[in-house]
Amino acid sequence: MASQESDVIEFSFYFPPESLRAGLLVSLLSVWLLVGVFAYLNHYTQRRYFTLWTAAWLFYGVWLALHVARETGADTPLLLMLRHWSVGVSAVFLFWGSLMFLGRKQRQVTFGLLIAFLMAWSYVAAFHLDNPLQAEIPIFVVLGMASLRAGFCFYMYRRRREYLGASLLMVGLTLWGLYLGGYPIWEKNPYWRPSCFFLCGLLQLFIAVSMIVLVLEEARSRLQHLLESNRAARETCAGLRDRVRSSEDRYHALFEQASDALFVTSTETLEVWESNRCARRLLGWDGSQSGARSLVDCVEELRKKPQPLTGPQALERLRAQRATQLVAANGSKTPVEAEVSLIEFAGRPAYQFAFREITERTRLEEQLRQSEKLTALGRMISGVAHELNNPLAVIKGYLEIILARHPMAGQTRHDLLKVAREAERASNLVGNFLTLARVRPSPQVPTQLNEVVQRVLERSRIDLRMARIETRLDLTNNLPPIQANPDKLEQVIDNLVRNAIQALSSERCGGIVRLATERFNGSIRVRVEDNGPGVPEHLASRIFEPFFTTKPAGKGTGLGLSISHGIISEHNGRLYQQPSELGGAGFVMELPLTRTVVPAEIPAAEPTPGEPAPPGPTGSPPARILILDDEPTLVEMLGQVVRHLGHETRLCSCPVEALKEIEKSDFDLILSDYRMPDLDGRQFYERVTAIKAHLRSRIIFLTGDVANEDTQNFLASTGNACILKPFHLRAVESAINAALQKCALPA
Ligand code: ADP
Repeated sequence: MASQESDVIEFSFYFPPESLRAGLLVSLLSVWLLVGVFAYLNHYTQRRYFTLWTAAWLFYGVWLALHVARETGADTPLLLMLRHWSVGVSAVFLFWGSLMFLGRKQRQVTFGLLIAFLMAWSYVAAFHLDNPLQAEIPIFVVLGMASLRAGFCFYMYRRRREYLGASLLMVGLTLWGLYLGGYPIWEKNPYWRPSCFFLCGLLQLFIAVSMIVLVLEEARSRLQHLLESNRAARETCAGLRDRVRSSEDRYHALFEQASDALFVTSTETLEVWESNRCARRLLGWDGSQSGARSLVDCVEELRKKPQPLTGPQALERLRAQRATQLVAANGSKTPVEAEVSLIEFAGRPAYQFAFREITERTRLEEQLRQSEKLTALGRMISGVAHELNNPLAVIKGYLEIILARHPMAGQTRHDLLKVAREAERASNLVGNFLTLARVRPSPQVPTQLNEVVQRVLERSRIDLRMARIETRLDLTNNLPPIQANPDKLEQVIDNLVRNAIQALSSERCGGIVRLATERFNGSIRVRVEDNGPGVPEHLASRIFEPFFTTKPAGKGTGLGLSISHGIISEHNGRLYQQPSELGGAGFVMELPLTRTVVPAEIPAAEPTPGEPAPPGPTGSPPARILILDDEPTLVEMLGQVVRHLGHETRLCSCPVEALKEIEKSDFDLILSDYRMPDLDGRQFYERVTAIKAHLRSRIIFLTGDVANEDTQNFLASTGNACILKPFHLRAVESAINAALQKCALPA
């Protein structure tokens, strides 16, 4: 029965005084456990506040150890002093760690001074105070407050991160603080003391476990964070890989489709690693060729060297001499411009060569140069032609008068007729110059180019047959009409056909001339080709120059192509030479389909070709005619002619003087120059009509200046006749008669 009773365990929170030692031991062990846990955490996390808290537990552990010494009865004032000091220092470190935990920086020297002060205080308390409680109570209150403060730290921490460990630490440290704050009182009661130490040990264990829980939670959260950032990094990495792949695809598509020839080569031997479609086309490479190929063999500039060039040398050469030629497998060469850059290709350094074909550009540049040269020449020739017009008109006029009115010996007449013919030739030449300089007005109408070509062919049929030349006509049906001057276009095509016939005349037989029309990019092309000797390359740039000819004297003037060029430019088109597929020369005339502004047609008195026949008295009643020109000889000559026609004249060589005459007297007609020093034709016309409005339709202009579009338009707007210098006297006569008859008609 007795043994049965002893087996029953009664559970109670009361520990008899004899269990004090056990309580102290438990408390001491739990403190050392705490010290161990914090020391480990300090080492593991490298956080400074763990160092301080470890120190706090360590000093608390020292206090407990010294307390054991007291319980054994071997207490001295020195031990007492050390006990007080340990508790104080523990409080200081606990407090310091809390501040550091909250991120508040404190100066170390403050805590050093505090520890020194505690030492002094403990000494005074141990050696000079009678009641040890006077020292113990404040020192334990401080430790309790430091613990409460640490509990508050974990409360703050918990608000930021909801860790269970932080909550447990908050509770544990608060309870421990409350316990320590009241320790000097519990300790006085011998019945409470063992329970106090057990409770304290329990709280310390609780704090140690809570700390481990917190650290584990933190570690888990950090791990989770790492996993998440790892997953995000993997996703970013996958996205970047996709972007790299798609930009690589884009690069490949661009590389392959580029209109320049691109090569990627090694930097040492220029071995071609990659080439694009254009590059393969220019070099005539196809898939059948295998083996390594070096760019040195394909670039003219690099092939020239006796020693094969290294990559950097080749680079230097191409940088210095950008224009070169790509040499294809069959030996054909393409002019190109080179660009080189250093790139990374499959992790290796490489050169990327870009060769831009300049064939078309070279041709266009050449054309531009040519047409600029021709424009400048045309301007110069037109100036000379204008200056020649007046003296030529005087020479021709007087010759006509002399031949018509003065009896002379047969030989003299014969000689003078020769002079007249030469004067006529000179004035035709001037006319040609003006056409060259595009200064003659050229009325434009809707024109069917096929018809123009057929008309030219019809006219040249006999010559072609005589020269035994086969004619091939290759006309595209249903071509839209273009706005053009058909006569001028006929002149151009006729000139091209004539040149072809002349070029083929040296060939024995088998000569072919081909005429073709086609629509091309908003324009119509007319090709005139032959299988003659063609235009030698070194002459190709010169054939459009005025007076350039390779034909013997008397056969060519060298004006045909330059005049044709002028006419086609006047039509906003292009005329150029390119070798024909037939083997000879090919001339292409390109005329735009867009509607061009039609220059107004100036009513011009046409000269009559043939032997000069001067005007004589006509059926028109005698009229009073004012003649105005700043060239006195011309005025005089015209005066003679007009008087011979039976009219009365008033001659003026200054427009201001002429205006005064008009104000003073009545005139039936005015013959006036257009380009004069004081007033030009337009101003003179306006002044005359302001003085006498009825003279508006009675002014006939004489001019060689129709280069200016404004002048052309003005002359056309008056509706009056205009005599182009140099003129035949017949033209003057018919213009005067026509004007007088028009004015005589009832309005
Ligand atoms: P011309 O015929 O009076 O010499 P062009 O201006 O018409 O003047 O021609 C200039 C030069 O162009 C010719 O002398 C000739 O050398 C060259 N040429 C023109 N057409 C041909 C052609 N069909 N074949 C070969 N050369 C040509």
